[in-house]
Order: sequence, then C-alpha cells, then structure tokens
Amino acid sequence: MEHFRSRGSVDKNKALVEHLQYYGIIKSGKVAEVMDVIDRGEFAPSGYPAYDDSPMPIGYNATISAPHMHATCLQLLEEHLQPGMRALDVGSGTGYLTACFAIMVGAQGLVVGVEHIPQLVALSIENINKSSAAAFLKEGSLSIKLADGQLGWPESAPYDAIHVGAAAREIPQSLIDQLKPGGRMVIPVGDFFQDLKVVDKNLDGSVSIRSEMSVRYVPLTSREAQLS
Ligand code: SAH
Repeated sequence: MEHFRSRGSVDKNKALVEHLQYYGIIKSGKVAEVMDVIDRGEFAPSGYPAYDDSPMPIGYNATISAPHMHATCLQLLEEHLQPGMRALDVGSGTGYLTACFAIMVGAQGLVVGVEHIPQLVALSIENINKSSAAAFLKEGSLSIKLADGQLGWPESAPYDAIHVGAAAREIPQSLIDQLKPGGRMVIPVGDFFQDLKVVDKNLDGSVSIRSEMSVRYVPLTSREAQLS
C-alpha cells in the first residue's frame, strides 16, 4: 500500500519539528529528518491535537510521550542507532519511537518493540502500517512483541540501543545484560520523582550511569498493576 500523507498533516508535523529545533531539543539533521518522516499524526489518538507538544492518553493507563521527550531520547541514542545497528524499545505503546528507530537503523538493522498490553500491540502495528516504517515491519527488521519488557527481549540481544518508555523503580539487570559493550540505554527511573538515566555500557563491560533530566512517565510495571 502506498503511504499517503495529506498536505495539512505534513505541514503541521513539519511545524512541530521546526518548533523542537528552534528550542534546541532537536539538535541534529538526522533526528529532524526521522521526525519529519514519521508523522506524529499517524500515532496520536484521534480527537487530540496530534501536533501539540504534550503527552496524550492512549487508553490502558498509558500515554504517547510528548514530542520533546521523543526528540530527547532520539538525540541521546542517535550514535547507537546507526544503519545496521540493533535497538530495543521497551513499553513501545503507540509504536512511534519504534518506527523512528527502524528508519534510523534501516533494513540491515533490527528493531524490537516490547509492549505488555495486547490492544496496544495491535494498535502500534496498525499505526506503523500507516507510516513510512511499514516496509520494515513487513520485511521483518521491525517487530512488536507482546511480553513483559522488564525482561527485555533476550532472543535478539545484545542491543546497541535500548529505550524504555515507562519508569522503572530500579534499572532492570536483564536490560543491562542485554546491552552491547559500547551500547547505550535511556530509561526513566523513579517513582513519583523520576530521572531520565543514560546508561552506557563501556567496552570493558563496566557501566556508567548519569541523570539527564527530571521526567514524568507512566510506571514500568505488571499488566495487572497497570490496569487496576
Ligand atoms: N514510547 C511510547 C510510550 C508509551 S507509555 C509512546 O510514546 O507511545 C509506556 C508504555 O509502557 C505503555 O504502553 C505501557 O503499557 C508499557 N509498559 C508498562 N510496563 C510494561 C512492561 N512491564 N512491559 C511492557 N510494556 C510495559
């Protein structure tokens, strides 16, 4: 199926990307390009102003993250999303960032999204099929798995880049284990007060962790806890 975007949505998405560039959140041409190509309007819930810079509810006590958070995470991971690399997106939700990762690593790379709500897995596949990343899903370099993301997705490890889209109480050891030496994980950590942590696995296997900024994400938890 040919991918079609209306002139209006292309313009609004472009204006959003320019806004994020103006405020210095998008710093690189590559991130601007991928956020131009992956139209937020194809992932945001209907009835909401898709191109506003804010999170929006997607049901099941989950949200699509705000564009400035998507941009921040893409910037932090850019060096680890080069063509041919492997990425894991835990709590892939709408599939927005998963689709961006697939564009960045290309057909020779591999991207796995892990989401534990079956309806969101279905929704993200629908969204990606409408987007410029549809071919990667079809050809298999991009896939979405229904599983507990706290365990990662060991079958395709190790990863150059791991993104976690929900806040963990502590950094799960299984995710650190699935990071390649030289790889980077971006993960919100905390309960009410959360920090976006940047976890670098050094070439000798040791791990360096720093806090990038304060954030507010939905919790990385069990399906039962999330739905209750
Ligand atoms: N980056 C996504 C964020 C979605 S919100 C987006 O912008 O669309 C966080 C997501 O994490 C939710 O979809 C939620 O269902 C999921 N999640 C929470 N705990 C999880 C777990 N243990 N395993 C897998 N997914 C989880």
